[in-house]
Amino acid sequence: MPDLLNLNKKELRDLLASWNEPAYRATQIERWLYLERVTDFDAMTNLTRDLRARLSDSATIGVPRAIAETKSKDGLTRKALLQLDDGNTVEAVLMLYADAPDSPQLEDASTALSMTRRTVCISTQVGCPIGCPFCATGQAGYIRNLAPGEIVSQVLHFARETPLTNIVIMGMGEPFMKFDVTWRAIETLTDPARFGMGARRITVSTSGEVPGIERMAREKLQVNLAVSLHAPDDKLRDKLVPLNRKYPLGKLMRAAREYIAKTNRRVTFEYALMDTVNDNPNQARALAKLLDGMLCHVNLIPLNPTASSPYKRTPPARVRQFAKVLTDANIATTLRVEKGIEIAAGCGQLRQAKH
Ligand code: SF4
Repeated sequence: MPDLLNLNKKELRDLLASWNEPAYRATQIERWLYLERVTDFDAMTNLTRDLRARLSDSATIGVPRAIAETKSKDGLTRKALLQLDDGNTVEAVLMLYADAPDSPQLEDASTALSMTRRTVCISTQVGCPIGCPFCATGQAGYIRNLAPGEIVSQVLHFARETPLTNIVIMGMGEPFMKFDVTWRAIETLTDPARFGMGARRITVSTSGEVPGIERMAREKLQVNLAVSLHAPDDKLRDKLVPLNRKYPLGKLMRAAREYIAKTNRRVTFEYALMDTVNDNPNQARALAKLLDGMLCHVNLIPLNPTASSPYKRTPPARVRQFAKVLTDANIATTLRVEKGIEIAAGCGQLRQAKH
């Protein structure tokens, strides 16, 4: 039975046409699924009883079950371990911030759900085949890709309780490993008649899958691109992000530069600072050289330490030193706000704790 969340606009219309239903039924169903976010066909009250019965008999709405949920002490980060139909689990995280770049600071940000920026971080795979040694997901191995509806359903899970302002596709998995699947989910999330999130409010983060960057450069949707770099040279990056052996920095940076030239959009480079591994001033200078002249910005991330990993986070003084080298070289640099360390919000950590 098809999960309706997997069907694109045409497929949903074709299905209903094959049942001799008028075309406007598809629009009604999309409204129920993505705007009302119902989980049951019986709730679709403006459909005929016959159509509701037929939908119940021959289709499903994928609703993952939250089998674990943790909340940070300040209540601003919530992580859900979501169980899919086949029993596999993925993680999705809701993060609340008061500092939305395009909205004023709230005077009273004391109530978590009144925060101006509500970002959900979602997964595209169960586990991850890239195998980065500092990452809990990478250490736990890879099981399968998600279907597009399973990606969308993580967003709907949190959207059922609070309106979301941003989506980052930065959870478990490499989103460009199956570009078409990720893009189909993005199309549903940005379609004004479906979930309706602005494309510029969505960021997709790749570990360096060059063909995906090339494909994204040709897409019309103005989704943001982030690249997880984590090292300024091939020798170290081969170790930290093993996909580098397939797409070394020369190829990756060429693809990123071509993406910028084609789209005129700024690329974010994510760099997780690891104590004495990738955080000395020479490495910062090498990074600045690599990014010289690019329309980009660097997001320095304090590493989420995982129990079984030898990689530790860089002390704050060295983080500042690293950031200064970059800003002195005119590279726009931000330090990612630390979210949810105490609830194991680093990707794969909650899932690992459950297995
Ligand atoms: S850091 Fe990202 S790409 Fe690397 S193993 Fe973890 S989920 Fe996969």
